[in-house]
Amino acid sequence: AAPLLGARLQRLHGESMGTTWQVLWAERDAARQGPLRAAIEAELDLVVEQMSTWRPTSELSRFNAAPAGARQVLSEAFAEVLAAALWLADSSSGAFNPASGALVNLWGFGPAPRYTDPGFAPPSAEAVRAAMPATDWRALRFDAAAREATQPGGLRLDLSAIAKGHAVDRVARRLRAMGVSHALVELGGELRGQGLRPDGMPWWVDLETPPVRAGQVAPRATRVALHGLSVATSGDYRRAYLVDGQRLPHSIDPRSGRPVAHGLASVSVLHADCLWADAWSTALTVAGREQGLALAEAHGIAALFLQREADGRLSETLTSAMARLAG
Ligand code: ADP
Ligand code: MG
Ligand code: MG
Repeated sequence: AAPLLGARLQRLHGESMGTTWQVLWAERDAARQGPLRAAIEAELDLVVEQMSTWRPTSELSRFNAAPAGARQVLSEAFAEVLAAALWLADSSSGAFNPASGALVNLWGFGPAPRYTDPGFAPPSAEAVRAAMPATDWRALRFDAAAREATQPGGLRLDLSAIAKGHAVDRVARRLRAMGVSHALVELGGELRGQGLRPDGMPWWVDLETPPVRAGQVAPRATRVALHGLSVATSGDYRRAYLVDGQRLPHSIDPRSGRPVAHGLASVSVLHADCLWADAWSTALTVAGREQGLALAEAHGIAALFLQREADGRLSETLTSAMARLAG
């Protein structure tokens, strides 16, 4: 699309899904701030109502609480996100697992109990073992055409690693439908850029880098133009706690039942759709650098890995698709 003549940078921001959002767009005046805010908030609220593990009345929470054998017809959006999540679970040999809810909760990253609660203790090996059988995503019967899912019993869906990206796509689509074709949408660090900035340049962003300790050199930030492109980052510094000096990040390796511990500080993924950028960044984080690189290359995914080396330094690896896109 051609740049908008005489446009200025407009900005709206707010909070949703336990994080912050902002939308930047190019328009001549601020007259539409009100209706655009209402539309953005309506989209975000709908995603929460469909896919939140935090809201007990959400579609997802109702599925999780249902008894074995219960069938539920899902909303179109929920079904679409679930289908994508199940595809990636298969494609990543379970590194990405939308049925991780029981483990996520056990490690304190779900609604209750929280790792931030006083007296919270990480689960015992026995408790982890006991929770594992309920995390088999293949036990979920899902008829995509009928949008019908069957609760196998005790399975706890968790779409938090993909829902934010989906929400960004939805907000961007809604904005386009309202005639806003030059916009940057951000939710919790996941971004999608369409069209151009008011100055006619694409939406340039620096890929998120982890905070560094005093005296450490910050890694060089990789800069990308989000011209019809999304980026998502999964990082061990986001939500994590320390046990005996070990960092326990909120990405769970469903194969061990424990928080991932292979020293990846972050994985950023570029993709046309923010849903896929979000989901892949989590999948590759859980897979680890070696497996993750092989997986990303096999699927042509543009990814950047930041690994914590033994000496505390961060080392960077790009897939070939990322090398082509990063400036
Ligand atoms: P962030 O971008 O904030 O680092 P992610 O997109 O990686 O977050 O999502 C992390 C969340 O996804 C966790 O808080 C948990 O709810 C859920 N989760 C944890 N482990 C997995 C996994 N292996 N597969 C899918 N979802 C997961
Ligand atoms: Mg993710
Ligand atoms: Mg992320």
